[in-house]
Amino acid sequence: MQRDIDCIFCKIISAQVPAHVVHEDQTTIAFLDSGPLAEGHLLVVPREHFTRLSDIPAELAAELGAKLPVLSRALKKVTSVEAFNVLCNEGESAGQMVRHVHFHLIPRRPNDSLGYRWNAGTYPAGKAAELAAAFQQAIASHGR
Ligand code: AMP
Ligand code: ZN
Repeated sequence: MQRDIDCIFCKIISAQVPAHVVHEDQTTIAFLDSGPLAEGHLLVVPREHFTRLSDIPAELAAELGAKLPVLSRALKKVTSVEAFNVLCNEGESAGQMVRHVHFHLIPRRPNDSLGYRWNAGTYPAGKAAELAAAFQQAIASHGR
């Protein structure tokens, strides 16, 4: 299993650094974010060190994905929220600070101060069809 000795999440996984772990199994660990955006903010992390979501094999993605509803239900129960965001930051421009892939589960409440700019745009004529075709081709050739 890949590890990065300088990675803070690998150190949590190997118990060199403490964390408030809420779930552990063969492939996945989930713990409280130490800088929570809201009480109960969780991080869901594969045990194996991969930098990016786009690096991980399908089997691991399936394992991780299967944990999200389970942890979401626990999050709603423990924090008494009805709403939450699932967030994966990939790359510096997207705000990734820890270079070990992870999903944030962030409890949301009405009128909390969290949020981000959602400046929705529109496509010029033909662009959406062109993009969709490019995606289909990319998935067919490299997506698996
Ligand atoms: P990201 O910007 O998506 O890479 O988010 C990294 C997250 O990891 C941040 O929300 C940090 O608060 C959190 N974090 C960093 N170090 C620790 C740690 N030792 N224990 C728990 N959470 C951490
Ligand atoms: Zn790591």
